[in-house]
Amino acid sequence: MLKIFESTHDQFAEAFLRRYGKGTHYSTAVYRHVMKTGGTGLGGLDVFVRFPELARQVENEMVRSPGRLVKQVAGGGVVKFVTRLADDLDIESVVVPMFRRHTLCVSSQVGCRMGCGFCRTGQMGLLRNLTTEEIVGQVFTARHQLGFDVRNVVFMGMGEPLDNLDNVVQAIRVLADQRGLDIARRYITVSTVGLVAGIGRLAKADEGRVNLAVSLNAPTDEIRSMIMPINRSNPLAALKAALRRYPLAKKSAILIGYVLIADVNDRPEHALTLSRYLSPLKAKLNLIPYNPAPGSEMKAPSPEGYERFYARLVAEKVFVRRRGEKGGGIMAACGQLGGKNQTLDSKPLG
Ligand code: SF4
Repeated sequence: MLKIFESTHDQFAEAFLRRYGKGTHYSTAVYRHVMKTGGTGLGGLDVFVRFPELARQVENEMVRSPGRLVKQVAGGGVVKFVTRLADDLDIESVVVPMFRRHTLCVSSQVGCRMGCGFCRTGQMGLLRNLTTEEIVGQVFTARHQLGFDVRNVVFMGMGEPLDNLDNVVQAIRVLADQRGLDIARRYITVSTVGLVAGIGRLAKADEGRVNLAVSLNAPTDEIRSMIMPINRSNPLAALKAALRRYPLAKKSAILIGYVLIADVNDRPEHALTLSRYLSPLKAKLNLIPYNPAPGSEMKAPSPEGYERFYARLVAEKVFVRRRGEKGGGIMAACGQLGGKNQTLDSKPLG
């Protein structure tokens, strides 16, 4: 089978040669046509003028099943869209306008098993990993079906990308292929809850350097373990060591997400402890006011409380940015999207 969304150009060319005995003159034309321009029919390609039968055969045998676009909603400065997968599960993706480019927030799993107490996706549990094709398909849909000039990709949608590392790494390779979707690695960000082993594997598996974002959300192990169960097996000290080892690209910094929750992680001493934790790291902090889901026991900070915490971090010389407006929360922390039975227009937590 020719799974074009799962393949880099070279992998596709190799499979094409094996199957049809034709070299890159043909396979490159097909790959560029589909991945770069979003073309479907191959009959119009020059290389097939003398081989219409072959064009039809390739068309029939080339598998493209990344899911079906079933819904899109614009609001709050972003466009969310839902893809229905072959097994009838739904995933969400979000297009966020950023200056002249568009950023796409992609999902990497249906649901998530990390169980963070403040996250709607976590409440679903993990239903399954997305395939490489289903991850790449979200970018393809945003660019070629919805017409957005997507130039940045952030793995901050549903799921923990490092819990589906093989498919995510292959998706990065496909997305970054210059003969296809051509999204430079410096414009790709993987956001994690802080899986220490996964961060190490990403650093090794990824030939180029993608950006790393971490949902930190707490200054101490005690608080973090309470709201993020994963901290019990991946405590803050081990996480910091992994972050210090991560090979950042030049001029790049680790993006730290901190969802500020009233009476949980918003005290003055928390700001101080947080600043000490971050001080040896090359990091930028996004401070996100918690946006409670219906029925949540946790509370949003007051605007004054948020500003006070922000000012304390600034006073401690933390590189901190306010986040939370117009989909900004999506851009600042890990997977805050809903599931099949949740309302599409529900706001992200941030
Ligand atoms: S915040 Fe991220 S890692 Fe935690 S449950 Fe939600 S999607 Fe999973």
